[in-house]
Amino acid sequence: MSGTTGGHHDVIVLGLGSMGSAAAHQLAARGLSVLGLERFWPAHDQGSGHGETRIVRQSYFEGPAYVPLLRRAYEGWRELEEASGRQIMTLCGGLYVGDPDSKIFSGARLSAETHGLPHEVLDAEQIRARFPAMDPADHALGLYEDNAGFVRPEETILANLDLAARHGAELRYDEPVRSWRATPAGGVEVVTDRGTYGADRLVVAAGAWAPGLLADLGLDLRVERQVVCWFTPDFSVVPYAAWTSDQLPVYIEETDHNRDIYGFPMVDGPAGGLKLAFFNTFARADPDAVDRTVTEVETEATRERARQLFPHLTGPLVKALTCLYTTSPDHDFVVGALPDRPQVTVASVCSGHGFKFVPVIGEVLADLVANGRTAHDISLFDPSRPGLRVPA
Ligand SMILES: Cc1cc2nc3c(=O)[nH]c(=O)nc-3n(C[C@H](O)[C@H](O)[C@H](O)COP(=O)(O)OP(=O)(O)OC[C@H]3O[C@@H](n4cnc5c(N)ncnc54)[C@H](O)[C@@H]3O)c2cc1C
Repeated sequence: MSGTTGGHHDVIVLGLGSMGSAAAHQLAARGLSVLGLERFWPAHDQGSGHGETRIVRQSYFEGPAYVPLLRRAYEGWRELEEASGRQIMTLCGGLYVGDPDSKIFSGARLSAETHGLPHEVLDAEQIRARFPAMDPADHALGLYEDNAGFVRPEETILANLDLAARHGAELRYDEPVRSWRATPAGGVEVVTDRGTYGADRLVVAAGAWAPGLLADLGLDLRVERQVVCWFTPDFSVVPYAAWTSDQLPVYIEETDHNRDIYGFPMVDGPAGGLKLAFFNTFARADPDAVDRTVTEVETEATRERARQLFPHLTGPLVKALTCLYTTSPDHDFVVGALPDRPQVTVASVCSGHGFKFVPVIGEVLADLVANGRTAHDISLFDPSRPGLRVPA
């Protein structure tokens, strides 16, 4: 073969965002020669893994099948903190509020009961008494668990990149991959603006760009633009302390079909604002052409909805940003080798809820690349499942 400029590696990781940085770290730690290729800069804000905080929780309304992975992920978060020396995870509790038969409440309860996770069920009056910033609908119920909180996404990605480099990975930034192919010899070839690289294996962890890079698979993945806002509460009515992680957990809430929101306690001082967002804005986007400015119409719609839970969220907007989801039809992740090209492993771990799995997904990807299989049950994420294809 001619034109290969970048040498040959055991594995190329395409995309060094949330999942790719973890995969590069875990693969390099196992002694493989790793080349990581990233179109932007370390811990950038153009994809899915930025914005200061990400919820971690275990009583998972999305389904009990996720819980064993979450248990392993929590161990991985502590291991990542230890290895990197960075403070990443804060467990301040989590509250999932909704109508008694809502997916958010009843799904969380199902996971908690199925796996024996410690939790409490609170009615609206108990929620108001315990978390004075909140005023849920009278008929709402909340499932509260202590073992939830948030992680710091930028710190996570920087930690994994540092550790990948420390274990010998070659990480190249500002170098978009233009194309890739499986070679007849059973390896891969990856082309960027600056070179052509060969490897035995490829991990595609390209986030919102994955649908474009994997177009020939016909995966039904939608890229969606999401808006996140930070608002100032009125501290003269509900004092600052009630908005901090001492008195406010992370939460998700949907009652009477008012559209689900989620958010965090204030984590960066009284001027930092209370971060919250709609769980899904269903706005289809092209990652290369997305409008990253947020309008006042969007921020005020978010505030209006948020005030149904936080009536005293009346102060100025601190800031707002956009972020991209890559959503599958069943909202489950896509992780696994391509059946017809087993040297290529795909990781599209999003649908708006992937970040909390970063450490365990890094481990799964390293297992799949290094051993061809993993002991973790990832059957839910099968890239060949029928519902994942664009309908004919
Ligand atoms: C607003 C918002 C809130 C969220 N909240 C939560 C939460 O509270 N809890 C939770 O668990 N999850 C949450 N998520 C989801 C979570 O952040 C995502 O699941 C996760 O970040 C996806 O990781 P990724 O590696 O697939 O994508 P990314 O982190 O975006 O990484 C993909 C990388 O690939 C690079 N890349 C793409 N194409 C190329 C190319 N051609 N060449 C080189 N590099 C390329 C990109 O630049 C990027 O760095 C949230 C997401 C958003 C947007």
